[in-house]
Amino acid sequence: MITILSGGTGTPKLLRGLKEIVDDFAVIVNTAEDIWISGNKLCPDIDSVIYALADIIDEERWWGIRGDTFRTHEQLRKLGWDEFMVIGDLDRATHIFRSELLRRGHTLTEATRILKNAFGVKAEVLPMCEEEVATIVVTPEGEMHFQEFWVKRRGEPDVLDVYFKGIENAKATDDVIKALEKCDGIIIGPSNPITSIMPIVSVKGVKERLRRKKVVAVSPIIGNKPVSGPAGKFMKAKGFDVSPLGVADVYADFLDVLVVHCSDTDFAGEYDGIEVLATDIIMRDKNDAKNLAEFLLEIM
Ligand code: GDP
Repeated sequence: MITILSGGTGTPKLLRGLKEIVDDFAVIVNTAEDIWISGNKLCPDIDSVIYALADIIDEERWWGIRGDTFRTHEQLRKLGWDEFMVIGDLDRATHIFRSELLRRGHTLTEATRILKNAFGVKAEVLPMCEEEVATIVVTPEGEMHFQEFWVKRRGEPDVLDVYFKGIENAKATDDVIKALEKCDGIIIGPSNPITSIMPIVSVKGVKERLRRKKVVAVSPIIGNKPVSGPAGKFMKAKGFDVSPLGVADVYADFLDVLVVHCSDTDFAGEYDGIEVLATDIIMRDKNDAKNLAEFLLEIM
């Protein structure tokens, strides 16, 4: 059994391929980008993982449900309530159901299990912790929540620093501990090393368990650019090189193998005790994702 650490775009792409090959895996998901909007709790990374595994994710945006409509969002705007995140009507049903479960006393882990089962997902989908953690981006204009930086401000402000508010109280849940202990190995998907993976590995109880297992990571950086998104800005702000080796540096404490793109073969070999292997790591479609998942399972 394999355990995967995931954010909301690169790793869900990989999961779509992985689930075609194996059933029995657990995904530990970043919750530091969660936010309450219009009365409901959005867990963008959890939802993308569930939608990807249920094969209903909108593949144009890599968030939300394919073919969704936005009538409620538009009506709210007409009424004078401008949600800064664009929320689809079907997607909103997920948020409402989750929030009702939480209001009735379920934990986020339980609510996520109920939701993923409702979508027919077999794999385990586990929030990294129960405590609320928020990724805060420090910019010259002040501090803002990750979603405000990325969605409202379109990632435009300079990034001076990033920190995870509340992380000092976050403890790995029993399910997360079990998934880390009983697995044969751990895959860190091609996710943003700073805003998606760093929160997960900073949760109390995670890092020491990673050190005891074989950990294979896929680089979200090719050459000196992320495939998409703001990972470059965040890595620079945290003092890391924007390169596959910069990714290895973020994970140096527990990483055994880093998988880089075939155009980055000059990095292949060994780096600081980490084995570096090269293959095609761009997932244009499900078949690419399946090929990459097969490559990773072979390494395991
Ligand atoms: P977020 O929560 O939406 O930030 O999503 P993730 O952290 O899971 O994924 C974002 C990262 O995925 C970005 O840094 C991208 O560079 C990376 N990414 C997206 N698509 C691909 C792909 O096809 N291949 C690889 N290697 N990385 C990808």
